[in-house]
Amino acid sequence: MTSSYLFHSEGLAALAGYVAPDTLFAFDLDGTLAPIVDDYSAARIVEPMRTTLDKFVKLAKFCVITGRARQDALDILGVEPQLVIGNHGAEWPADSYLQNPQFRQWSSAWQDQLHERLNGINGVEIEFKGASLSIHYRKATDQANTLSLIDAAIRDLKPSPRRIGGKYVINLLPMEAFTKGEALVAAMDIFGLKRAIFFGDDVTDEEVFRLRNVDVFGIHIGEDDQTAAPYYLSKQSELTGLLNSMIGILELHRFEGESTHEE
Ligand SMILES: [Mg+2]
Repeated sequence: MTSSYLFHSEGLAALAGYVAPDTLFAFDLDGTLAPIVDDYSAARIVEPMRTTLDKFVKLAKFCVITGRARQDALDILGVEPQLVIGNHGAEWPADSYLQNPQFRQWSSAWQDQLHERLNGINGVEIEFKGASLSIHYRKATDQANTLSLIDAAIRDLKPSPRRIGGKYVINLLPMEAFTKGEALVAAMDIFGLKRAIFFGDDVTDEEVFRLRNVDVFGIHIGEDDQTAAPYYLSKQSELTGLLNSMIGILELHRFEGESTHEE
C-alpha cells in the first residue's frame, strides 16, 4: 500500500467527513505536534501551533500518545488535552483504571540490573521514565559496538521487557503494556467514540496505522515509503494549517449544535 499526499488526493474530502465532535483527534508528540530539536529536553510546542491547539482542545476530544512520560509531555504541550498517554502506551493518568503501578517497579528493577551491566561503557545513558526505560547511546564513540553491548545487557533482564528500537535509543517496556495502537483503541472506548484521526511519524506510530477493524484515519508526518498510513503531509508545518481548517469545521458543528438545541 502506498501513502498519498493528503492535499493532492481524494483524501482531503474523505478527511472532511471525519472532522466532527464525535471523532477522537489523536497525535504523537515529537516530530508531529512539537518540532524535533537537537536537545531532546528542550522540545517545546511553538507558535502558531500553541494557539491552534489551545482552540482545538476546546472544540473536540484531543488525545496525545507519546513515548515521553506524561508529565514531560504536558510540560512540552503547554495546553491540557482531554487525555495524554505516555511511555509508548504504557502510562495512563493516575486515576485511570488502565494505569498499572507494577510497570514502574519493573522498570526500576531493569534500571538496577542495567546500571551494573553497563557501568563504565562510554556514551551510554539510562533514562528512567516511570513505566518504561530508555537507553541512549547517541554520544557513544563506536555506536554499532555500543548497541551490541546494550543488546547483550538486556538479553536476560527480569522480568523480560519488550524492546523498541529508535534513533540511538533502545526503549524497554513491560510485555503487558499497551502498544500505541492498543492505547488508541482503549482511548476511543473511554470516550465512547467510534472513529479517530491519528497523526504520527514514529516507528511505534505504525502500530496505529496498521490497526484493522477500527475506524482510524491515519496521516503520517513526512513522506515515507514504509508507512502503513494511507495519507501523509510533506512537512510538520502543514499540520498547523490543517488543524486550523478543522477548527473552522468544528466551530460550525458547535454553532449548528447550539442552534438545534435552542429550537
Ligand atoms: Mg514522533
